[in-house]
Amino acid sequence: MKKEILVTRATLPPLEEYIEEIKDIWDTHWLTNMGKKHNLLEAQLKEYLDVNKISLFCNGHMALELLIQAMNIRGEVITTPFTFASTTHAIVRNGLTPVFCDINADNYTIDVNKIEALITKNTAAILPVHVYGNVCDVESIQDIAKRYNLKVIYDAAHAFGVKYHGKGIGNFGDATMYSFHATKVYNTIEGGGVAFSDELLEQKLYQLKNFGIKNQEEVDGVGANAKMNEFQAAMGICNLRYIEKSIAKRKEIVDLYRKELKGINGIKLNEEQPGVESNYAYMPIYVQASKYGMTREGLMDKLEKRGYFPRKYFYPLTNEFACYKNTFMTSGKTVAKEISQGIMTMPLYEELEYNDVMEICEIIRNGK
Ligand SMILES: *Cc1c(COP(=O)(O)O)cnc(C)c1O
Repeated sequence: MKKEILVTRATLPPLEEYIEEIKDIWDTHWLTNMGKKHNLLEAQLKEYLDVNKISLFCNGHMALELLIQAMNIRGEVITTPFTFASTTHAIVRNGLTPVFCDINADNYTIDVNKIEALITKNTAAILPVHVYGNVCDVESIQDIAKRYNLKVIYDAAHAFGVKYHGKGIGNFGDATMYSFHATKVYNTIEGGGVAFSDELLEQKLYQLKNFGIKNQEEVDGVGANAKMNEFQAAMGICNLRYIEKSIAKRKEIVDLYRKELKGINGIKLNEEQPGVESNYAYMPIYVQASKYGMTREGLMDKLEKRGYFPRKYFYPLTNEFACYKNTFMTSGKTVAKEISQGIMTMPLYEELEYNDVMEICEIIRNGK
């Protein structure tokens, strides 16, 4: 039987290398609580991501949730529904109200022309997502935030290592969340981080991920437990040695997809963004059924029959989830809705073979 090609495949370092990296844990018996490996990885990631400060977490979601708490945000947060469940959940789990803004049709990030109309006296922050590693219009967002005195938090779960005009993407806004989940460009098995500059945030984040403990006798915050352990950090240290090679390989595959899928009527691809050094995290294609002559579902079906499993990512929109339906409305026809009904992400990972990409593209080219 033909092998199944899934949308992604976690990156692993050579096994011997990981074993070598975790060996001294058996000498120290130090398994978690900001150990040596955690601290080393923190220093390495600060350098690689080119950010002022970084705080590591057990996963990206807890990083975002505790970041919002640390920033003491109250009221409404302008965000987009074209994202992973985590972004919206992190807002709502902090007792805040998500206000959904539409996305733009070019790169699927927040439509900066629609933000201002959503600002009320209760708006406290903007939480945009660098979807698929595409960079948001950070300048316009900064400009709006400054004029209305709003905080800006970026969900950069898809944007590990992305640079904008030579600067790490984590330098924009007040703070940026990264995910190091197994399915992402870079992983620590599960893991996450917050990049920021504000000195005051450092201690707050440190305490909130460790039960709010200030010292042995003082607890001054309602914290959670969201620490990165030493085995996660060890995986991160190993994977970081290969990240550049890994992104270069992804670029090759994305370039091939782009070349082979260029100019197909009804199939829209994301373009390379000017000034952006991409991480080639995802390969989204948008199927415009009326032009292509087949729906996304029809195309997915054809691909699946041949052993290829793309994903409807992101579908449905988060505001359509059962837990949010009829609570946080987005009214009428939106670009987000339209895109979510035709979008799919194609298989993309380092060892994906040339022949498989060619076959996927041929299936798409042939249409019905
Ligand atoms: C993966 C992801 C998260 C959550 O990260 P985890 O590390 O899986 O908790 C948040 N937002 C987006 C857009 C993601 O893709």
